[in-house]
Amino acid sequence: MRLGESAGRTHPGKVRRRNEDSYVLDPPLFAVADGMGGAQAGEVASRLTASAFREFHEADTLPPDERIQAIIQEANRRIYERARADSDVSGMGTTVTAALLTGGRVTLGHVGDSRAYRIRDGELEQLTEDHSLVADLMRSGRLTPEEAEAHPQRSVITRALGTDPHVDVDTMAVDAEPGDVFLLCSDGLTTMVGDEDILGILDAAPTLDDAAKELVRAANTGGGEDNVTVVLFGVEGDEAVDETLVAAPLVESNGQGDTNELEDTLTNLQPVQTTAPQAVEARKPRRKGRWGRRVLWALVALGLVALLLGGALFGISRAYFVGADENGNIVVYQGVPFDIRDGVGLYRERYVSRVQASQLSPEERASLLNHELVSYDRARARVAVYEAEAVP
Ligand code: CA
Repeated sequence: MRLGESAGRTHPGKVRRRNEDSYVLDPPLFAVADGMGGAQAGEVASRLTASAFREFHEADTLPPDERIQAIIQEANRRIYERARADSDVSGMGTTVTAALLTGGRVTLGHVGDSRAYRIRDGELEQLTEDHSLVADLMRSGRLTPEEAEAHPQRSVITRALGTDPHVDVDTMAVDAEPGDVFLLCSDGLTTMVGDEDILGILDAAPTLDDAAKELVRAANTGGGEDNVTVVLFGVEGDEAVDETLVAAPLVESNGQGDTNELEDTLTNLQPVQTTAPQAVEARKPRRKGRWGRRVLWALVALGLVALLLGGALFGISRAYFVGADENGNIVVYQGVPFDIRDGVGLYRERYVSRVQASQLSPEERASLLNHELVSYDRARARVAVYEAEAVP
């Protein structure tokens, strides 16, 4: 068993001016980091992580899981200390998902919502669990996967490097076989490209470098709304003869991947829309009615629609809920937690707390950020409980 090809690519995407992602391609050690924070802070956080992977060698002789732990803790320390020393980058953070191939095993270290996948026999297996608000809500049964896909706060993560002096790192190890390909990526890939498309690209690309390029291209074709980063590495058998034996049937078995069930489910998801225009059409009077009566009915129908819309808007304007913003701060929103389309929501920020979602326990987050509609005072009171506990 040995390491085969490896490749990495990153791109700012089509919407954002800066690229806050970083990656490490230092075989047999690999990592992806997705930084966040105002101004250039996200870039600083993800780059500090990448440099810790390259520079920190004190743990090289430790077992793989302890080695990954030690490097990620070192990265966390660097970001945390820099954020405390430099007010320009205070509040910055980053995800990290790292992999180390040793013998027949891949050891993973993971914080945040960047992901690791293993591709084996034409199937994509997600190895990491997202540390994100929507993943929490899904695990507690409050959101279906479909609702999570369309959730306005799907990019809010609940664990990050740089926010505390110590970070909780998930580590795990999986076996590796000749023919396996491992993929590490930021959410800019997985929110823009479906599983079937990722598999199709890996299947068709002659080299992993081509596959990495194509995955980035697909994320940009799919909207390119976020920075996108992919790292790929393959596992090969020890003898060249074995490789060809393994490679040949794999191409055939991958060729059958035509079932697009997941893709269909994803493309069938449509945002909720108001049905008011159809309601007006359904009330179209019959042709034989006299003009005066038709105008009168039209006016009555229009009045009804206006009344309904007004009522809905009045209801929305009096509804508040507790959520979290892109930076992870707890926020009281006015309105209802739905997006009409991407980036346009039926809610606006009314109060931003200094408390971060990542400072709460999973249970606290699930209960505070459940998007229950309440009054403004009630929402503020619920947030105030945690503000009293948080260290300034
Ligand atoms: Ca991202």
